[in-house]
Parts: sequence; structure tokens; C-alpha cells
Amino acid sequence: MSKIILKGRTLSFLRQPKNVNDSSSYEYNESGAILINNGIIEKVESYEKIKKTISKNIKIFDHSGKLLMPGFIDPHLHYPQTKIIGSYASNLLEWLKKYTFLEEKKYSNKEYSIKASKIFFNELINNGTTSCASFCTTSKNSVEAFFSEAKKRNMMVIGGKTLMDRNAPKTLLENSTKGYELTKKLINKWHNNGRCLYAITPRFAITSTIEQMKSVQTLKEEYPECYLQTHLSENFEEIELVKKLYPSFKNYTSIYEHYGFLGKKSLFGHCIHLSESELDLLNESHSKVIFCPTSNLFLGSGLFDLKKINKKNNIQIGVATDIGGGTSFNMLKTLDEAYKICQLQKNKISSLDSFYHITLGNAKCLSLESKIGTLSKGSDADIVVIDSRATSSLEIRKNNLNSLEEELFYIQTLGDDRCISQVYIKGKPAKNT
Ligand SMILES: [Zn+2]
Repeated sequence: MSKIILKGRTLSFLRQPKNVNDSSSYEYNESGAILINNGIIEKVESYEKIKKTISKNIKIFDHSGKLLMPGFIDPHLHYPQTKIIGSYASNLLEWLKKYTFLEEKKYSNKEYSIKASKIFFNELINNGTTSCASFCTTSKNSVEAFFSEAKKRNMMVIGGKTLMDRNAPKTLLENSTKGYELTKKLINKWHNNGRCLYAITPRFAITSTIEQMKSVQTLKEEYPECYLQTHLSENFEEIELVKKLYPSFKNYTSIYEHYGFLGKKSLFGHCIHLSESELDLLNESHSKVIFCPTSNLFLGSGLFDLKKINKKNNIQIGVATDIGGGTSFNMLKTLDEAYKICQLQKNKISSLDSFYHITLGNAKCLSLESKIGTLSKGSDADIVVIDSRATSSLEIRKNNLNSLEEELFYIQTLGDDRCISQVYIKGKPAKNT
């Protein structure tokens, strides 16, 4: 593959912004260009400078006026729930029972899984998301379809077979030995296969017996290079049920601690109702906490306390859609709802902080910042092209604009998938191809 150039307004974060005026937290070039060599970023500079150093026949993709950013990263979602977004239920446990488990059963069918994974990845790309960490179902077919489709598209993804051996319909359950053995096979096949990475995936404490919790612990010890993804402290009814199922434990997080779930490659979705001592356990173990705003509002789970968790220095917070409890694949919509949740708690997030989170922040959450999440030299060229004039509302707003920070803020407030003008995966156009 030869070299290519993307021309546009380049924006990439170097670290988490401290406030709305923290201009040294990012690199921005109004007339920028990205030089890509074999799918890897070689240089990001002004277009004029880059132009002088290249041969005449190099292909230029002209996105002048549009923002070129690292592709968005979604660190927590469920690809088998793509078709049940917006299902009416009073809370998490009812929603699981009434819709989720019924839909997930369908993924035992190979053809169904293959078709659904194509739809899922199209949705990700249409929304500017180039990497994700997704749950699959308990069926091996769902995992095979997920990774096969990601590999075909050369996308960097994390995924794993969901482990459940109680409190779900029988057809979705399997004994812990079978779950353990199948997970091992899938890790051996898919971890580091192309850009695919594996996450050991117990759904949550409610759907695993003690025996399965122990087998997850063994898997994590046997495969320390793999991730672990699960849910923690999302909803009050869930927490009450956890207490009943694990009566000898002090709290929800201490169950996960006891079975060795915590760690720097462990991703915990939600974490809404945690006590200070639970947060300390996550902090000491450098575990990752994932904020899923549209899901938390939709299922009425509660308001994530970003300010409180931000005080724990070792916790890297991710921001995710949690499809299909979440209501949009779009990370801009996700940021919009995150902002409102924080506003309700008198905590204002700057637009810089928001866009940091869905790029470099989420890459750090997945320990992948050396490969994705920035436009740094040597990074994989996964790039999103954002049109901040894509709709009439945006066009009107654009005419009343004073700064980049303002522009980012109205994009997250008014923007949606129409703002995603193109997506590049390892330097190749991936949208509408
Ligand atoms: Zn989830």
C-alpha cells in the first residue's frame, strides 16, 4: 500500500485537558495534513510543509474545512443488542428478561450472527467509531461472527463470549467447565489475531455461580494479557440481588476483588452506586470504570458521579454507549448526555475534556494509547472526518462561532451521525465503500 495524505483541520489530544482554556493539552492545525504510510501515521503537520516533502503522484484525500481526529473508541457495548435499542422497560432486570435474553438466544444461529455483526459494524463506522470493546452472547457463533467481521474490516476490537451459568434462560446457560473450555479455545484463536483482542466476559455477579467466578479467576491468571469486561453497580435492584446471592461479602466490588477480577485490564461498566471503599478497591488495582450515559438515563439506573471518581487518581474513566441499554451508537450523542448528567450534579465538563475522553481517554482505558486514540507518529491511521456544518442547525450555529472549544461543544450538542463525513481504518476509507 502506498502513501496517502489526508488534508483538513487536524486535532489530537496529548493528555487530559485541565480546563476549557487548556490549549497545551492538544495539537490543532487549521490547515493540516496527515501523511499515512502503510496504514500508519508518519507525520502530522501543516499541509504546506508536508506538500514540500512528498512526490507528486501521492494520493491526497481533501477534507478541507473538516476536522480530522483519531477515530472514536467505544469501550463498552453489546453487539447482539443492536436490534433491541429503544425497548420499553421499567429497569435493568426487567429489560434483560423481557428483551435482551430473548434476542441473545437468536445468536446460537450462525447465519443470524453473521448478518447481525455486519449491521453492527456498519453502524459503528457510520457513527465514526473505529474501535470498541463488546460483549458477545454465550454462543460461540456470536463470537466467531464478531471477530471475523472485525478482521475482514481490519478493525481493532476487543470482544468476548459472555459467561453465564445461572439466573438467565436455560438455553443461554452452560456449566462453568464448558464456559471455561470454550473461552480458552476462543482466546487461542482470536487474541492478537489481526487487530482482534480478547476479553474474558462474565456478564455480572448475578449470572455466575461461585464455581464460574472461580473459573473466571483461573482464566484471568492463565491469560494475563487478555482483558476482563463485566458490569458493576448499575442499578439498586441489581445490587440488592447481588447481596442476597453473595451474603458473606461486604459489598459488590469486594466480590470481584475476591475472585481476582480487578486489575489494569479490567473494564467495569456503569459503577454508579459505589461506596468510597469500593472506589478505593478499583483505584488501588488500577481498574477501569466506564460511564454509559445514554444507558443510565434510559434504564433509569442513576447518575454517574464523574467528579467523585475523577478524584481517584489511578482510575482511568471510559465513556461508552452501552448499546442496547444505551440509545445511540453515536459518541457525540453520548457526550451530550454525559454533559447533562454532570450538569445535574453541578459538575461542568468542558468540550475539550469530552473529546479527549472519546479518543485518547478511551484508548488509555483500553491500554491501547500507543496504537489508537491519537494522531501521533507511529499510531494506526484510524481517523474520523467530522463535518461541523452537516445539518442546518449546525450551519446556523457555525456562523456564530468564536473558538475551537465552542465548535466542539456545539458539535456534541447538535451533532449526530450526519457529522461523520468519512472514516479511515488503517488509512483506508471505510464509510460507504
Ligand atoms: Zn453493558
